[in-house]
Amino acid sequence: MAEAERIALETYGLAVSASMLSGERDSNFRLRTADGRDFVLKIFDAAADAPTIDCQLSVLRHVAEQDPALPVPRLIGHAIRDGAECSTALLTFMPGQPVTEQAVNDALLMDLGAQLARLDRCLRGFFHPALAQVLAWDVRGLPKLLEFSGLVRSAALRRRVESVAGVMQRLLPQLRALRSQAIHGDGHAGNLLIHANASSISAILDFGDMIHAPLIFEPAVTMSEMLTDRMAPLACLPDILRGYARGEPLHAAEVELLYDLINARQVVTILVHAWRSRHDRPGTRILEQASENAAGALDALEAAGREPLTHAWHAAAGTAAAPKALLSRRRRLLGAGAELFYDQPLHLVRGEGVWLFDAEGERYLDVYNNVPHVGHAHPTVVQAIQRQASTLATHTRYLHESILDYAERLTAKLPPHLDGCIFVNSGSEANDVAWRIAKFTTGNRGGLVMEHAYHGITDAVAALTPATGKSKDPWVQTLALPPANDADHAIGMQAKNGFAPAALFIDSALTSSGILDPPAAWLGAVAGRVRAAGGLVVADEVQYGLGRSGSNFWGFERRGLEPDIVTLGKPLGNGFPLGVVIARRRLIEDFQEKFGLFSTFGGNAVAAAAGLAVLDVMEQEQLMQNAHATGAYLREQLELLRAGHESLRAVRGAGLLLGVEVAGIDANAARANARHIVNTLASRHRVLIGSEGPGGNVLKLRPPMTFSREHADLLVAAIDAATATIGR
Ligand code: PMP
Repeated sequence: MAEAERIALETYGLAVSASMLSGERDSNFRLRTADGRDFVLKIFDAAADAPTIDCQLSVLRHVAEQDPALPVPRLIGHAIRDGAECSTALLTFMPGQPVTEQAVNDALLMDLGAQLARLDRCLRGFFHPALAQVLAWDVRGLPKLLEFSGLVRSAALRRRVESVAGVMQRLLPQLRALRSQAIHGDGHAGNLLIHANASSISAILDFGDMIHAPLIFEPAVTMSEMLTDRMAPLACLPDILRGYARGEPLHAAEVELLYDLINARQVVTILVHAWRSRHDRPGTRILEQASENAAGALDALEAAGREPLTHAWHAAAGTAAAPKALLSRRRRLLGAGAELFYDQPLHLVRGEGVWLFDAEGERYLDVYNNVPHVGHAHPTVVQAIQRQASTLATHTRYLHESILDYAERLTAKLPPHLDGCIFVNSGSEANDVAWRIAKFTTGNRGGLVMEHAYHGITDAVAALTPATGKSKDPWVQTLALPPANDADHAIGMQAKNGFAPAALFIDSALTSSGILDPPAAWLGAVAGRVRAAGGLVVADEVQYGLGRSGSNFWGFERRGLEPDIVTLGKPLGNGFPLGVVIARRRLIEDFQEKFGLFSTFGGNAVAAAAGLAVLDVMEQEQLMQNAHATGAYLREQLELLRAGHESLRAVRGAGLLLGVEVAGIDANAARANARHIVNTLASRHRVLIGSEGPGGNVLKLRPPMTFSREHADLLVAAIDAATATIGR
């Protein structure tokens, strides 16, 4: 103390009383003048070399110049003597309290991350040769520290230590490829002060461990040390990262490394302790607890698992998990059978209008999705959903206007006899209910569907879905695709099995059958035969409803059909689940009386709000008219394209549901060519389409209804280019 007071007076001309502050290597003193001014005197460690000291002084000057508002001490004066026997610095005194476990909360950890990020932004342009100093604490040196692993007493822990060091050895080339700069590198609780009664950092101290290192080391060190010092549990570490990433956006590749870096830092603590216990007994005690905690932290990290932790850290940093990691996680959680589009699966994170954006920010033209009927994330629909969800989300067993408003709006668009609704949550459910109504009403049990039709996933409806496998149920008969008209044949076959038709289900766009254009009179004739045999006609408008054909609000109108039941799904809620069965009210009442059908979520207030908003937007933005005009233009352009490419055969469909048949020397080649176009469009042209049909060789073009001419041009140019590369 007397020494500090003497230096203060002799070197800095300050008459003070001194008190000791903490410090790992350097000695730090709080100085107080008689008139109440506070300073800090730092007496550098005798072992510190001149460049290291100069680096610490330079960085304080740099911060003062670049970002004076950072909570970092100011350098007032310094004295360096040869031999460094008494190198000192006079610094401003930073007020604040030490960080304690009790003081740590989400907001504080966020602020800690944010302040470190701000410091790193400030340090971006800082350079000093001493940043190349070799520090035992630098995880990149871990493989070298391994020679002390023999000093780790527990064999199990030793194996863990060796394995983590091995990982670090393998990661070194990857670490050298990361963006690197000067970092503080030692943001542990002992180097931080906090504002009393506030969740924020009042000081970042001690620049003695500054190094040039990958930027991610900064949050990694602090996360590690908070864990080792038991200041924050594993579950709270994302807060640090969240705060950091707000100030300094991180790269996904950096976040992917955090698990290994944090593990490595724990192992460094264990090895430094092991070394000191052999070579530096007095230094051992400080690390005793830290080393024990580090072993505990390794256990906690392992128990929580790399994948879930990395996932949480990505979420906090706003970065995206690597596609490979996502794929394996997906396989583990959803099973290998869960279908994925495209050879290079897409990781989409955002949609807007006809555009989708992947995790890297790449933009894709969406020519596939019909669920976002009025465009991805349409603000009118989003707001309607938000407003209703924040007010009331109950079911249809209470009185509520919006479901009635919605039913009115829908039925007003339908032929007068279709005047009663049942609300469900999906196309499959709507078809399942329609099937039950048809059986109940007709007393028959036979189902008729088109070859390769798709109607959904419930047990009954899956049997009515030859697209996913031909039904072996004797009550199901498929009708051959038009123009061959074999309704009579199918009904006859069914009769032979002992069944009469309860219903014909028909998607009038014949989407999954390959988007076909049957002769105008065909469907009316088929419906006539079904009715004559006692069956009802169910128009499955899940694909074609809501104006997609451009010419008619409903697909069945376009084919001159008067259905007994209409089923709706996909586009109704613009992504919010909503399905409807619409039939003569009498049918619905009789069915309800017998079965008392109720769907918990079906027609809930939020779904109704979404449905109403979609209808509003369709009218405001004249989207059916757009489907008509853009669809006609697109079809024309596709016809021109087809004329120029041998591999493109027919263009079919209307409005914004079009199919382009792709040819090949045989069916397999045709399918492969279609796949080639679909994948090339996604990967090279960033245009998303699908393939369809029994042979999988029909390009399926079915964009949101806001698709415009300019988008059509992009699509046609992309198909042109991709088709030209077939076989190359
Ligand atoms: N019918 C048709 C014509 C469909 O295209 C689909 C979905 N592809 C369904 C029914 C089933 O709808 P969901 O997936 O909502 O159950």
